[in-house]
Amino acid sequence: MLDQLKEGLRNAIKKLIYSDVVDEQAIKEFVHDIQRSLLQSDVNVKIVLEITSKIEKEALKSDIPVGLSKRDYIINLLFNELVKILGTESKVEFPRNKCNIILLVGIQGSGKTTFASKLGKYFLREGYQVGVVCADTFRPGAFEQLKTMCERGKIDLFEKSEEKNATKIAIEGKKFFEQNKNIVIIDTAGRHKEEKELIREMKEIDTVLNPQMVLLVIDGTIGQQSFAQAKAFHEATSIGGIVITKLDGAAKGGGAIAAAASTQAKILFISTGEGIDDIEKFVSERFVSRLLGLGDIKAILERVKQAEIEPDEPRARRIMAGKMTIDDLYDQLMKLKKFGSMRKLLDLIPGMPDVDKSINMDELEGRLEKWRFVIQSMTKEERQDPDILNASRIRRIARGSGVDEKEVKEMIKQYNNMKIVMKRTKGKFLRGFIR
Ligand code: GDP
Ligand code: MG
Repeated sequence: MLDQLKEGLRNAIKKLIYSDVVDEQAIKEFVHDIQRSLLQSDVNVKIVLEITSKIEKEALKSDIPVGLSKRDYIINLLFNELVKILGTESKVEFPRNKCNIILLVGIQGSGKTTFASKLGKYFLREGYQVGVVCADTFRPGAFEQLKTMCERGKIDLFEKSEEKNATKIAIEGKKFFEQNKNIVIIDTAGRHKEEKELIREMKEIDTVLNPQMVLLVIDGTIGQQSFAQAKAFHEATSIGGIVITKLDGAAKGGGAIAAAASTQAKILFISTGEGIDDIEKFVSERFVSRLLGLGDIKAILERVKQAEIEPDEPRARRIMAGKMTIDDLYDQLMKLKKFGSMRKLLDLIPGMPDVDKSINMDELEGRLEKWRFVIQSMTKEERQDPDILNASRIRRIARGSGVDEKEVKEMIKQYNNMKIVMKRTKGKFLRGFIR
């Protein structure tokens, strides 16, 4: 989903994380990279400049909250600004003791029919009784398309292909399902080319059917042009929500979402493919987290604070210079432990979202746990200078910690490797965490 935008934003973040210093130039470059990716995704220039100048201004300030690295702070700024332009989450819930009508509107080809079945399946999963009504009397084959998809999703469908009046079908469909369904989704034709006509028809069916919710379906590939549709719709209805479709592959999807959100209309769902399960409730925080590839960045910041990782400058400098002692390693292991699982930690490290696929986390966690015991069984001398570890010392440590001698040797080998890697990369990989 939104691959290009995702890649652009992630690259900007990666660059920031791996930069040697976070100075004015690095910040300006970061802001510039963000601008470019947002503009490429067709986000409105005004919005882009607004958020990036805010990020730049805040990032250049010198008073960073205690316990945060400048990098974390800047990434958090970006996260907050993106969430802000996308708006807050709104609930999609209906009373289950009555029949709720949901009317889908939108111009032809925007994805209404496809979405009708997706939404049906979504509500079925939520435990509602769902019926779908085909009120598209205009497009030949409209019924077959909806029928195929509803069969796939095991959703009940009402149709009346001989009837040519859409409003009539909608009313009959409502009556048909009224007694035994609590959600009825009505798919309309939407043969309009422009907003005015669309809104006019929507108002007409709205008056007759009195639906609980009207959803405007917008094709995400139109980018910031979605502004006009969303705005007209937002002004015409108070019970509406917006659905943005075709976000898979749409280069302009980011722009479509940002533009729609900037009208204050509520984006309730997004659609990311032609399949019946390619529907997602729109939660801006989750959406931005995924876009940035940060796992849940809120969690990272909270946990950094919780873990109270005290800045320990001499230690950090020692590790980054490749002079880590076993004591330092132990200290790092204990800090990792405070974060809970290793998998979570890796998920939380910005710029490392793909690592966990290649590593068996449970194995790694078990390993680190053993290492902790091994280190605890070492003398102070040995921890300071592991080179003195000979066969008999290793035997003693193995017995004391209850692990294999092989494992003790393996730990020492890994420790030596780590020292080399740290020296070579100047500790970049762990920098934000060790400080
Ligand atoms: P309607 O005219 O508004 O009912 O639109 P349709 O539901 O018939 O969809 C128009 C076309 O867009 C169809 O070919 C759908 O398969 C396709 N489509 C709908 N939603 C998505 C989506 O989220 N992603 C992709 N790639 N295609 C979609
Ligand atoms: Mg249709």
